[in-house]
Amino acid sequence: MKQNTYLAPTLRDIPSDAEVKSHQLMLRAGLIRQSTSGVYSFLPLGLKVLKKVENIIREEMNRAGAQELLMPAIQQAELWQESGRWEAYGPELMRLNDRHGRQFALGPTHEEVITTLVRDDVHSYKKLPMTLYQIQNKFRDERRPRFGVLRSREFLMKDAYSFDATAEGLDVSYEKMYDAYNKIFTRCGLDFRAVVADSGAIGGKETHEFMVLTEVGEDTIAYSDQSDFAANIEIAPVKVTYTKSDETLRELESVETPGKKTIEDVSSFLNVTKDKLIKSVLFIVDDEPVLVLVRGDHEVNDVKVKHLFDAQIVEMATEEETKNWMNCIPGYVGPVKVPKGVKVVADHAVEAIVNGVCGANEENKHFINVNVERDFSVEQFADLRNIQEGDPSPDGKGTIRFKEGIEVGHVFKLGTKYSEAMGANFLDENGKNKPMIMGCYGIGVSRTVAAIIEQHHDDDGIVWPATVSPFDIHLVPVNMKQEDQKNLAEELYDQLGEERFEVLFDDRPERPGVKFKDADLFGFPIRITVGKKASEGIVELKVRKTGETLEIHKDNLLDTIK
Ligand code: ATP
Ligand code: MG
Ligand code: MG
Ligand code: MG
Repeated sequence: MKQNTYLAPTLRDIPSDAEVKSHQLMLRAGLIRQSTSGVYSFLPLGLKVLKKVENIIREEMNRAGAQELLMPAIQQAELWQESGRWEAYGPELMRLNDRHGRQFALGPTHEEVITTLVRDDVHSYKKLPMTLYQIQNKFRDERRPRFGVLRSREFLMKDAYSFDATAEGLDVSYEKMYDAYNKIFTRCGLDFRAVVADSGAIGGKETHEFMVLTEVGEDTIAYSDQSDFAANIEIAPVKVTYTKSDETLRELESVETPGKKTIEDVSSFLNVTKDKLIKSVLFIVDDEPVLVLVRGDHEVNDVKVKHLFDAQIVEMATEEETKNWMNCIPGYVGPVKVPKGVKVVADHAVEAIVNGVCGANEENKHFINVNVERDFSVEQFADLRNIQEGDPSPDGKGTIRFKEGIEVGHVFKLGTKYSEAMGANFLDENGKNKPMIMGCYGIGVSRTVAAIIEQHHDDDGIVWPATVSPFDIHLVPVNMKQEDQKNLAEELYDQLGEERFEVLFDDRPERPGVKFKDADLFGFPIRITVGKKASEGIVELKVRKTGETLEIHKDNLLDTIK
């Protein structure tokens, strides 16, 4: 590629609106330009990196047996109403109308689309397990878009979804994705940790976040210096065990209790439509479980909730906390940051009660008052919010250290949340109809590019790991007006191209100082400078990372860089 007409505009000064290094460098090296708040264009250099990361992801997904497809970004509101997320997702969902007044969303994630797709075309256990993925732009109306493409409103994500016949199958599918993520982020040259994002608070389901350890991360990770223990400290993991046996549940369902209500009763009681009755949050206050119903943007009258659930309400989640909660990964409900003095948040147990025992689902349209001690127990095994640097690790191995992290990936065992809501069933070996067991797995592709820069730069610019560098080699003739330099540079450009190196040829009529500064800013692994010794066939090779330089004859060049 010839640089003179290449769209890679560099900036000398640090843009005043860019707080973090990756954002500054992406602007300065001409990788991105902002279009409007949280919306960016990737210029040719930036796109090349994006594609390299994308291809690493694609290779590892394919190796793990996942199949690539492409789903629409435009999703009809009906899909989201079916899953209950049209309301639940809140203001982060970008909504639009067509000319007929039908409502749509720009996909922030694709559980709804994939679940209906698989529901309509996969019907037997013989077709399972199956993992599908896509690499596509996602849209989220982030409350605070910032740090460039680290938190933008339109961004590139790889999202994968697994479908299994059994819980054990899901474990295997999850493990495969987990392993693939380790390979992907290693190949991207990142120093990362897979951290427990929430263990147990979601009713035995597992989730891990892949965190790139840097100073600018928005999350804080507590990790052991001697074991694999690592967790996001925003989360105080708890284990919620549902204590009722199936028999008791069935008994309960058949008993008329004064508290038993239909979903319609509840809706009219709370004066909301059914789809607004969403998830609940369980707080533990002084070892006392407290149930709170959260329903999107609307305020809930706590007295009514108390009455409804026969539970003690101490503090409602604030609007802000509700939003945090809603901002969690798609399909992931809770935990949220809780008010001071409140120790633990859980909610899947509660959800189980709302959807299962209390029957907010289609087959089972009634509510039964819930008694917390009677119906489930809560076992707290680590309260990470109180954990201090230097404390012993909860797993007994090593000492706790803190570090900031950027969430580049997230793997999550969804279970049957979407398959049940949207009727994605299959026939098992005995001909029995069952909901598919799902997992979902996201990687922020554009965020990963920025995270790589956060970990790979120096005072002069970016220092790309070779695996994701936009070009392998920056070929810089010092003075294009010197015939011997120009000729040698062109000869090398052709030769290197034939050997399949990706070369950016700085054929600009710029001063050497400008060229070298830009070369350092761009940060390709190798710079080949063609200067005064061109007439002797000698060039200078410079390693960006170490600054090492080496004079070398053109005939030995290929052997040296290979
Ligand atoms: P965050 O906690 O940073 O808001 P998230 O948990 O909401 O992220 P997920 O729903 O888990 O995000 O989406 C999968 C991946 O998509 C994330 O791990 C992250 O890498 C990426 N991602 C999410 N939101 C953004 C964003 N606004 N800009 C860029 N990448 C994002
Ligand atoms: Mg988010
Ligand atoms: Mg997150
Ligand atoms: Mg996440």
